[in-house]
Amino acid sequence: MSLPPFDPVQICTNPEDSHLCCSAHFPFKTAPGLCSRCIAVQAAATEEASAKILFERVKQCPVPTFLFKGVEKKRRIQQLVGDFSSETKKARTSNTSVVKNLPPLQSTFRPAIPEKTSTIAIAFGEITIDAESGTVSTSLVDVMDTELDTKVCELHDTLTGKGASQYVYKATIDGVSYAFKRFYNVGANGVVSLEANAKEVQKEAQRLGQTNWFWEVFKARAEQANISIESDICVTDFEIVCEVTKANTDPSTACGYSNSDIDTSDVPMVWLKEPFRSGRPEKWSGTNQHPTHHTSKLGNTLNAFAHFVYTQSHKTVVIADLQTTRARVGNKVAEILFDVTTHTKAGTSGVGDHGEEGIKQFLTQHECTARCEALGLVAFNKDE
Ligand SMILES: [Zn+2]
Ligand SMILES: [Zn+2]
Ligand SMILES: [Zn+2]
Repeated sequence: MSLPPFDPVQICTNPEDSHLCCSAHFPFKTAPGLCSRCIAVQAAATEEASAKILFERVKQCPVPTFLFKGVEKKRRIQQLVGDFSSETKKARTSNTSVVKNLPPLQSTFRPAIPEKTSTIAIAFGEITIDAESGTVSTSLVDVMDTELDTKVCELHDTLTGKGASQYVYKATIDGVSYAFKRFYNVGANGVVSLEANAKEVQKEAQRLGQTNWFWEVFKARAEQANISIESDICVTDFEIVCEVTKANTDPSTACGYSNSDIDTSDVPMVWLKEPFRSGRPEKWSGTNQHPTHHTSKLGNTLNAFAHFVYTQSHKTVVIADLQTTRARVGNKVAEILFDVTTHTKAGTSGVGDHGEEGIKQFLTQHECTARCEALGLVAFNKDE
């Protein structure tokens, strides 16, 4: 069987990469080597089986039957026809009437089994950003407060994605889909406690809020200096979500904690909520890799932005793990920044903060481009 060139369906191009797989396509992986999809592709018995995995694991839907030949095609059409089999028998003398009797094409793409969800009550934590300094403060809600304003949320029981430190679950609130993220790896050994998760979620919210502030200042600076940048970049929307687990209700299955974990904890189950995006992320820098992008305006703008963040923060913050996904925001398409990490002098900005060493790596690797220069960003003294 031959599949049309569904670029970018390919085996992991960078097996050394420990964060995203297959040049940043689904699925995510957490260690160097091939991802689960590529392992499955390699282990497949036939070429057809591996092509099917390549397609279905990336597109998240069944392979259309027209891509198959011979027995497999017959089998798949049979599957598709299902209850229509009696009509099919009647029509067997004429090929065209078989086609007429097929249900509409879209029915092939209906998911076979509806996913299990937990119905939970949630409340939103508070996030405030100081317009002058860009300092972000966050707080959780008091889940014992009986007058707390809560919302109903359907949270899927099984993951839809995985990063180096987070699990991602799909959630629905008022009919709108969101991604709910929690931490399963915070650098230390063992299970992540509710406290550690709550702390990291708040730190991620702080990093996102701060990145948003830096970006707005950077954009204004470029506009003022009349320097062309890729301006359709924005930082993801985000909120801090607390699960409100009342005395006789269970926490969500997705949270991974038991009733007694929740009962004995000082903090509730906390999630980072973002819009649900299905696009493939493009990665521009790693935790300690800061390559220069000469040919992409988006990449080159982010290079200059990273330099700007270091300068604007008085040499206390380096931004890392820059990645974007194209998504619709309002009535236009934007490049969405998300999942950023930072290196800080104090080393306290959360998972991925390598402190002074992370800052040093950036200073060594960053190459100033014409865009840095045009924005008045001074090249680093590499011995600093
Ligand atoms: Zn892969
Ligand atoms: Zn990540
Ligand atoms: Zn620079």
